[in-house]
Amino acid sequence: NTFADIDLGDALNENIRRCKYVRPTPVQRHTIPISLAGRDLMACAQTGSGKTAAFCFPIISGIMRGQSAQRAPRMPRTACPLALILSPTRELSSQIHDEAKKFAYQTGVKVVVAYGGAPINQQLRELERGVDILVATPGRLVDLLERARVSLQMIRYLALDEADRMLDMGFEPQIRKIVEQMDMPPPGLRQTMLFSATFPKEIQRLASDFLSKYIFLAV
Ligand code: AMP
Repeated sequence: NTFADIDLGDALNENIRRCKYVRPTPVQRHTIPISLAGRDLMACAQTGSGKTAAFCFPIISGIMRGQSAQRAPRMPRTACPLALILSPTRELSSQIHDEAKKFAYQTGVKVVVAYGGAPINQQLRELERGVDILVATPGRLVDLLERARVSLQMIRYLALDEADRMLDMGFEPQIRKIVEQMDMPPPGLRQTMLFSATFPKEIQRLASDFLSKYIFLAV
């Protein structure tokens, strides 16, 4: 069981080879087929388990399979990503961005990061150049939504990374505000992946509010 056996699209499979990933980690082995099949999932995953690739591969593969053509931005200065990866901190967002860019190399899939605690202007310029996958922290994303510089109406994939940490940091109101904006019509197009190290009641509630008919994985 190697990545060569999983058809993620030629360019992505090539990038995985270039990253020297041969075998999927347990989290990847269990989650990637579920995500490729289009199902929502909630997965138990610690740092170092390979969860970044677990949510990036199905997203990049899905976008490569040609959904970008459907995009019709209403306002020229409003970025309309197809995928959103929410993470709790600037450091984690930046790491995810670095990895996602390697995985998306020469696939035509554009990855942009936006986090708080850094000047927004550079991020706005990046967003204007186009974005397929937006990696963001919740607070900065709410700011971008309020400025109408990002629209979430085209989101097809949502990944919540370290969901328990985001709640510990008090981001629940921002996360709910963000996800509400994706629930406008047409419904039912969004695929959601929730990754968390722990599963307290609050996380279970998020999962039942944000995911549909999801598969729960404790690897
Ligand atoms: P993560 O849990 O996503 O932070 O990944 C932890 C580390 O494992 C990162 O340095 C990844 O580049 C690496 N990694 C993830 N998946 C694999 C894999 N299937 N084979 C080898 N290394 C991997």
